Amino acid sequence: MDDSICALRSIIGSSGNIVFFGGAGVSTESGIPDFRSTDGLYNQQYAHPPETILSRSFFDSNTAEFFRFYRDKMLYPDARPNAAHIKLAELESKGKLTAVITQNIDGLHTMAGSRRVHELHGSVHRNRCMRCGRDHPTESISESDGIPRCICGGIIKPDVVLYEEPLDRDVVDSATEDIRNADVMIVGGTSLNVYPAAGLLSHFRGDSVVLINRSKLPGEDRAALVIRSPIGEVMSQL
Ligand code: ZN
Repeated sequence: MDDSICALRSIIGSSGNIVFFGGAGVSTESGIPDFRSTDGLYNQQYAHPPETILSRSFFDSNTAEFFRFYRDKMLYPDARPNAAHIKLAELESKGKLTAVITQNIDGLHTMAGSRRVHELHGSVHRNRCMRCGRDHPTESISESDGIPRCICGGIIKPDVVLYEEPLDRDVVDSATEDIRNADVMIVGGTSLNVYPAAGLLSHFRGDSVVLINRSKLPGEDRAALVIRSPIGEVMSQL
């Protein structure tokens, strides 16, 4: 077995309070692309970059175009958890892992069986009427045309954090608390360049940080272990 996998096994083996922090790379192996890395592709079909379309001001001013992009690029009803999601759920059920903190909005950690999941950027599986507050299933958006409407006539808005919107305070607070109490922090599938989410890591006071990512990350010199591989591939070997 690879030395780095052995080292990761040993870190996990001696910890009882791991927190996992993950980003888009955790879901790419489930067939969900990172919209930030494929700008060029979208620009062929949309007049604006994804960061613009996924902003609150664009949602408010170009609502129908927002939903055209959202149905097309943000919803993956057939996506299933991969080895990383499944292994993390297993570590939680064995009492090794305390929480998953994710920047993803696809709900795959919950689908894999993880119970304590902090979804910093919300979830496509929660949708709420902006007028009466009624909850709606994702199908209310995916199976409608134009602007999805509640029976009261209000617009149904996905519970995802758009650019220009703040993160949910309660989610950030509980994620911060779990990071503060963790003895091992595993960071995977994120380039750590999405703030303020990435800033949460500065609250870690524990023993070891493990970084698992395809490309180089900031702070590698302070990490106990760095693995430059896709996260699913690493987790499937544990
Ligand atoms: Zn309503």
